[in-house]
Amino acid sequence: IYSGVNLINPANNEIVKLFIANFGVMEYGTGDVMGVPAHDQRDFEFATKFNIPKKIVIFKDDLSSDINLWDKSFTEEGYLVNSGDFNGLQNEVAKEKIVEYLASKNLARKSFQYKLRDWNVSRQRYWGAPIPIIYCPNCGLVPEKVENLPVKLPEDVEITGFGGSPLSKAENFVNTICPICGAKAKRETDTFDTFVESSWYFLRYCSPHYDKDIFDKQKVKYWMDVDQYIGGIEHAVMHLLYARYFMKVLSDLGYLESREPFKRLLTQGMVIKDGAKMSKSKGNVVDPDDIVNTYGADTARLFILFAAPVDKDLEWSDEGIEGSYRFLNRLYRLFANNAQRLKNAQKKDQIDERIRELLYEINSCVQKVTNDIENYHFNTAIAKLMEFVNFLYSFNPEDEELGYFKEALEKLAILSSPFVPHLACEVWEMLGHDSIIFTQSWPKVQKEYAEKSTVKIAITINGKLRDTIEINKDTKQEEVEKLALQSEKVKKHIANKEVKKYIYVENLFSTYMY
Ligand SMILES: [Zn+2]
Repeated sequence: IYSGVNLINPANNEIVKLFIANFGVMEYGTGDVMGVPAHDQRDFEFATKFNIPKKIVIFKDDLSSDINLWDKSFTEEGYLVNSGDFNGLQNEVAKEKIVEYLASKNLARKSFQYKLRDWNVSRQRYWGAPIPIIYCPNCGLVPEKVENLPVKLPEDVEITGFGGSPLSKAENFVNTICPICGAKAKRETDTFDTFVESSWYFLRYCSPHYDKDIFDKQKVKYWMDVDQYIGGIEHAVMHLLYARYFMKVLSDLGYLESREPFKRLLTQGMVIKDGAKMSKSKGNVVDPDDIVNTYGADTARLFILFAAPVDKDLEWSDEGIEGSYRFLNRLYRLFANNAQRLKNAQKKDQIDERIRELLYEINSCVQKVTNDIENYHFNTAIAKLMEFVNFLYSFNPEDEELGYFKEALEKLAILSSPFVPHLACEVWEMLGHDSIIFTQSWPKVQKEYAEKSTVKIAITINGKLRDTIEINKDTKQEEVEKLALQSEKVKKHIANKEVKKYIYVENLFSTYMY
């Protein structure tokens, strides 16, 4: 109902009517809520029912500007309208700006609302860390002595699935003595929720054999923080929350200096088949063993890494498997076809244009694959390897070029080895090596060959692209002009008109005729 009270909106001094309603907004915490009828569905319905004007303040260009034509509120991202000085701002940006404005007038202050709730950590399960609590008839609830920690699970327990926690029936486990008065006492038989342990295991892993405390602070200081966290998004949200919470508690207790556990997060995508998430319950599971038996483990691995960026969902496809298998055969044949010739190949001293091009392709591949692996872009790294293989097929080395061609194949083998380790081992041996490929150093980019010696330049006439030519990088401008004018296409367009102006800037050559 309308309360009869009117308020003033401090941002624009307009009158706002105060209503009292019988619904609350759970997520909002305590306090009063400003209604935004155009951009919240509950407020939209409320305003419609009580004939309160609905004012559009967030807009997107494909919306109607007449709110009477709207059948529901607009709750997506947009830009501000009807908002005075804040018009045109993206709505998330505007939120910050409006709070800043109000704060500067001493009318508001920014605050965070936490919604921490109690967490029931006990489970009536066998698998879990026992909760180290003892019930004494004299002393009540008593924690186990520190020197008796950790309390271990008994191994002679029968798990029937009936009648509550299996531990409660393990007499040897349940019956104990009180750490304070020595009377007969009973252990807690619930175990901890798995999240209790998964929230700090990475700290224990830094010193797994340390028995004086929950972990060795010095070791933890050395190894933490975790450089990379990888997990499915459905799992990561809760686990990250709990793990970060544990870090902060342990840090407050003086166990840690660091307050955040993980430096980088990567959430891998799901595997999709026939339009649905692959799962046993949906019956659309592909058994990797079948693929391994038919095509080998390298094909399975290559397909999974190549089919999608690692953080996106992966659509399973039999054609994709076939494609990966064909590529690996092509890779294998490249080595098989050349292995004999390459055994004793020597590098010649002279680096001519062809060798320069080969060295450029090698180094461009090393650079791209290295960067992509560091950034978890495995699919584009593999695409680059495929391009490189195509180039090497087209290269057709002469006898005196075999030394550098061998270098190309060696680097190709090493760059492929993280993705297809079995095949990489095989082709490495084919080149005559006794060593195992994984003992080789990762190739470094040779800066002097990482850039092409030639550049393509576009020739435009009166602003229209007419031709592109390839020139050496260090070609002088007069020379570029001469080369450009030799192009048949350019000649045709200039005909016998007079060229008024030549412009040559960064790979673009333009002529203007008036
Ligand atoms: Zn006692």
